[in-house]
Amino acid sequence: MKKVHVFNAGPCLLPQVAIDKTIEAMKDFAGTGISVLSISHRTKEWDSVMDECRALWKELLHIPDTHEVVFLGGGASLQFLYVAMNYLEKKAAYLDTGVWAHKALVEAQGIGEAYAIACSKDKNYTYIPKGYEIPKDIDYLHITTNNTIYGTEIHEDYDCPVPLIADMSSDIMSRPVDVSKYDLIYGGAQKNVGPAGVIFAIIRKDSLGRVTRHLPTMLNYQTHIDKLSMFNTPPVFAIFVMNETLKWLKSIGGVEAMYEINKKKAGILYDEIDRNTMFVGTAEKEDRSLMNVCFVMAPGMEELQDEFFAFAKERGMVGIKGHRSVGGFRASLYNACSVEDVEALVACMKEFEALKK
Ligand SMILES: *Cc1c(COP(=O)(O)O)cnc(C)c1O
Repeated sequence: MKKVHVFNAGPCLLPQVAIDKTIEAMKDFAGTGISVLSISHRTKEWDSVMDECRALWKELLHIPDTHEVVFLGGGASLQFLYVAMNYLEKKAAYLDTGVWAHKALVEAQGIGEAYAIACSKDKNYTYIPKGYEIPKDIDYLHITTNNTIYGTEIHEDYDCPVPLIADMSSDIMSRPVDVSKYDLIYGGAQKNVGPAGVIFAIIRKDSLGRVTRHLPTMLNYQTHIDKLSMFNTPPVFAIFVMNETLKWLKSIGGVEAMYEINKKKAGILYDEIDRNTMFVGTAEKEDRSLMNVCFVMAPGMEELQDEFFAFAKERGMVGIKGHRSVGGFRASLYNACSVEDVEALVACMKEFEALKK
């Protein structure tokens, strides 16, 4: 296979061992003689994958007994609706830190009263607003911990005076999280923990049942807690791959070890962006994401952008084009991206600078 360095923003690079295990299971799932694509979800072999996957989530993130984790279809975008349906009674506040955060807000506004408590759109979402007042009478504060498109990240678990809900689609399992501080953490698997097709929701069990509206069965988190994510056919294949991805994460030392590697990877790339005269970072330094590193050509060098894309492509760099709303470059350094991948990109940036000087 061609040697490439994958920096795609999502679906993400997955560990090779997870892909190899999946290939085996496509042929013969758990010695059943049946492909994982055709296995019934009502078998004991499948039950053990579900149980293992749930247990790995709990172990790797130290999820306390107060919380349960569920796996569903529909993407993180459908979770925007779940959140409002299950938690919005009177009024909710949203921290508007990017397109995804904004979409979550707009979806809630279709259900009830929701507003942006602070917004960083004035600087094209290149920073995380701070210092705003959180009213005590709101149902919840919704945050997006990592802003995939702009490369900003909330690096701490907020002490929040109201229930805290977080979209962690693109930084889940990249760093330790104090789950006890959140009523709900959700996200799509495809940014860091698996393929597209499954979402995770980590729910504080006693946070449900606060709304008076009728909840359709499928949109009620309680249904999925009660049925352990098996009320209907779960996304079998995506969960299988997610489980293999988490087994790999555990094998390298879990989230704590991963966090050290992620800090190292991001450090190497940000150091080069700050040193290299050809490039500049776009996100506010203190809010820089460990997962999505955004940068552009330095002032006066803009016309070299396409040349650098071609130059990097020739050297095997894949997926470094910035989101169309930001432009420039974005390298996504999700868990399966290695230090060597980042070093290859940095070498490429150095080489380009030497060539152009
Ligand atoms: C990608 C992304 C989403 C949307 O995920 P889908 O599964 O495609 O709906 C939501 N939030 C964040 C932070 C994302 O990065």
